Amino acid sequence: MVQKRDYYDILDVSRDADEDEIKKAYRKLAIKYHPDKNPDDKEAEEKFKEAAEAYDVLRTPEKRQRYDQYGHAGLEGVSSEYGFGINIDDILNDVFGDVFGGFSRTRQRRPKQGRSLQTHLEITLEDAYNGKEVSIDVPRIETCPECDGGGAEKGSSVETCPQCYGRGQVTQSQGFFTLQRTCPRCHGQGEVIQKPCRNCNGQGRIRVKREIKLKIDKGVQNGFEYRLQGQGEAGASGGAPGDLLVGLHITPHDRFKRDGNDLITSTKISFVQAALGCTIAVNSLDGSHQLVIPAGTQYGDQLRIQGKGMPKYRSTSFGDLVVHVGIETPRKLNDEQRKLLENFDELHDGTTDTEHGGFWEKLFRLIDDKDKN
Ligand SMILES: [Zn+2]
Ligand SMILES: [Zn+2]
Repeated sequence: MVQKRDYYDILDVSRDADEDEIKKAYRKLAIKYHPDKNPDDKEAEEKFKEAAEAYDVLRTPEKRQRYDQYGHAGLEGVSSEYGFGINIDDILNDVFGDVFGGFSRTRQRRPKQGRSLQTHLEITLEDAYNGKEVSIDVPRIETCPECDGGGAEKGSSVETCPQCYGRGQVTQSQGFFTLQRTCPRCHGQGEVIQKPCRNCNGQGRIRVKREIKLKIDKGVQNGFEYRLQGQGEAGASGGAPGDLLVGLHITPHDRFKRDGNDLITSTKISFVQAALGCTIAVNSLDGSHQLVIPAGTQYGDQLRIQGKGMPKYRSTSFGDLVVHVGIETPRKLNDEQRKLLENFDELHDGTTDTEHGGFWEKLFRLIDDKDKN
């Protein structure tokens, strides 16, 4: 028989190491040599077992005392006295607790929640304005309706696993040291299905494309995400289904921009309309509205029609329609028009007020420049 290594050497701790140091040292080795991380690596498996054995002795005061006094020989024959079979799962749970629950090879039939699914939906600004009911095709995993998720063909039975007697685990003995493994026959379920359901091949869950209806609220913003509870993938072993997350993307509109609940649009008026003021029609998403342009309106002025913007989310009020005003300068003037403007210019000369003068100066300079070309 191979000479057994010293337990303190295995864990690389001093002989007076306290419980905490021992635990930490073992944790490091357990992670390093865990069979899940080192599949089919005999050496790693041996190291993993060796570390578990060392840890088991050094964490138990009676065993540690005997080992300190008599070495390995001190522990021989102790097994019955102190129950010396080691359960690696116990040890791993002791060290990692629930955080590393996945390390444990014990897998009871615990209910497992289904995954949540995510999808995106493209809608128009009109949809966001009016609200809309949409249908989305969602490929997802559902509980098999034929076997209700049990995986057994109708009329056939589910029996306790004959290999592990329903425990889901089998025990392997190696020397004085026992190792628990997930039962290979039932994969830890503790039950075996005599005749698997044909609809789901015994999986209990099937992949389907499900049409899901979603009501889009008026006033939703771009990037908004709906969470449809329980519309994700089915859970396993009686676990709750996951959720379905639907992210909205609103296609940019060619006539309107959105700023929160306000809608922004633009309109063009003539320089005469700008100077004299007028009333024009401006479109919003719900139709046409009268906009009063005050006399002396400047290029780029923003005018507001209250309550004609987007509906506010889950509210009965609306944002505003904001109109950016552009002013068109005539590209061509006939003689009569030119004469009138020249007369106007003469009249206006020297009396230009600073507030409105900028516009007129610019306008006539433009007209002049056009003439020269
Ligand atoms: Zn089925
Ligand atoms: Zn089994």
